[in-house]
Amino acid sequence: MSVGAAPASPIDTEICVLGAGPAGALCARRLGELGHRVLLVERHPFPRPHIGEALTPAVWPLLDSLGLLPAVRGAGFLTPTWSSVRWADEQVRRVRLPAGTCGLTVCRGRFDQLLLDTARAAGVTVLQPARAHRPDRRAEGWEVPVTTPDGARLLRARFLVDATGRSRILGGRVTRTGPRTVALYAAWQVETRPSPPTCLEAGPHGWLWGTPLPNGTYRAMAFTDPEQLHRSGVRRSSLAGFLRSLLGGSELLRGLAGERPASAVAVCDATGYHDLDPVAEDRISLGEAAFALDPLSSSGVDKALQTAMAGAVTVHTLLDPGGDRKAALAYYRDSQLSSVEQHARWTGGHYAEHLPHRGNSFWRRRARPLPAPGPAASPAPSPSPRTSLAALMHRRVRLAPAGRLTSTPCVVGDQVALRPALTHPALPRPVAYLGGHALAPLAEALRGEHTLAEALRAWGRTLPAEQALAVAAWLYERDLLVLQP
Ligand SMILES: Cc1cc2nc3c(=O)[nH]c(=O)nc-3n(C[C@H](O)[C@H](O)[C@H](O)COP(=O)(O)OP(=O)(O)OC[C@H]3O[C@@H](n4cnc5c(N)ncnc54)[C@H](O)[C@@H]3O)c2cc1C
Repeated sequence: MSVGAAPASPIDTEICVLGAGPAGALCARRLGELGHRVLLVERHPFPRPHIGEALTPAVWPLLDSLGLLPAVRGAGFLTPTWSSVRWADEQVRRVRLPAGTCGLTVCRGRFDQLLLDTARAAGVTVLQPARAHRPDRRAEGWEVPVTTPDGARLLRARFLVDATGRSRILGGRVTRTGPRTVALYAAWQVETRPSPPTCLEAGPHGWLWGTPLPNGTYRAMAFTDPEQLHRSGVRRSSLAGFLRSLLGGSELLRGLAGERPASAVAVCDATGYHDLDPVAEDRISLGEAAFALDPLSSSGVDKALQTAMAGAVTVHTLLDPGGDRKAALAYYRDSQLSSVEQHARWTGGHYAEHLPHRGNSFWRRRARPLPAPGPAASPAPSPSPRTSLAALMHRRVRLAPAGRLTSTPCVVGDQVALRPALTHPALPRPVAYLGGHALAPLAEALRGEHTLAEALRAWGRTLPAEQALAVAAWLYERDLLVLQP
């Protein structure tokens, strides 16, 4: 008879977050700050390598609001100020980014560690390294078996957050949002000095991208249809040769083809997808566990952080006995769907800009020309909105007839609640607040027989004059403020 060690007792928590990438770490942090008991489980010790190193400029305000700017500025990350682009035609364009619009190239090991440190500081318990296995839903909550270096443990939680990225530990069906895509990548210790800048280049069967990394190496990636790999009979052992041939055929990155990568060439799935059921009363999926974007926009990390913020208010509302659960579920589903649709339009338009190989299947499958701009979006020179507004001051104005106030789930403080929001075909989504001010009462004030000056005076009771004027300009620019017939 063998006597084994007694099994370790289960770990009980209120919320269990699986995966400590940007989505999981930030959501755990916010929930910790909101007073919840949170356990965060990550399979790898940090810092660990991860692709997704080029972040868009949209990440700056978010990092600022999280108090992370000093740490990020001190981490030695890069802010590329220009790039070489060969996309719409065969010409190479040097694109200089205006001040304040530069993105951020990070070492993901270090960046994700910074986010995880702030989660710990917010009172989150971190179990790492610990690999989570398929969670089991029980009547009284979730059970998650985990493997740690010290042995197996069982976690029990009331609420489960899946932030395991493309691993999607909760499973569930996803809908593809674009054609199947594979990415091949490696890093080079570039011998040529200065090393190439950030490059984006379209080719016959895909596109290439490269950028210097903070550790002094150069990252290059190739995106193509999986059939290209199969057609070329590429086995894992010859991935390097295939990537070399793609680089060799390029204008901007061909220098890398003759150099040996500092890391093994890796291949991964880069297909866009979307989980149509990312939230329920006892679980939520965040970041790439919920949806994956076409990497062309480099906005995966930025979107993962946004879903973490949206996910945290959703979970907080769902766990509050007085919270509006229906509104919370609708808010999270709608915000994801609108992100995915907006992104699909953007990428489709960018693929449509590429002309030299537009007949090739890679480009045909992805190009979605943007609709021709309507009269409202016409780039024809027009006086600035404020100048035009001045001419309306003593004329009777009203809200555009198609403008409606509809009860919409919004973030109000730390929770989701229903609030009246303005909807109109010219608006991509309902707008409840502008610059922190509720829009509904302002829109209501436009229902009477008022001149613009009278409406501004009425708004002035709750808004400083300058902000009232800014709201009027915002409405006017979108054709939402029109003259009374
Ligand atoms: C080829 C390619 C290039 C990309 N380039 C960019 C780019 O330039 N810029 C950009 O912004 N985005 C890019 N992305 C997207 C970006 O990488 C992701 O959007 C981002 O990492 C998603 O963050 P996340 O927190 O959802 O998931 P992840 O960052 O993947 O984090 C998930 C975490 O969960 C952990 N985990 C997984 N399974 C388990 C388990 N069973 N138990 C415990 N822990 C687990 C993992 O170890 C990991 O730390 C790219 C994606 C691809 C495919």
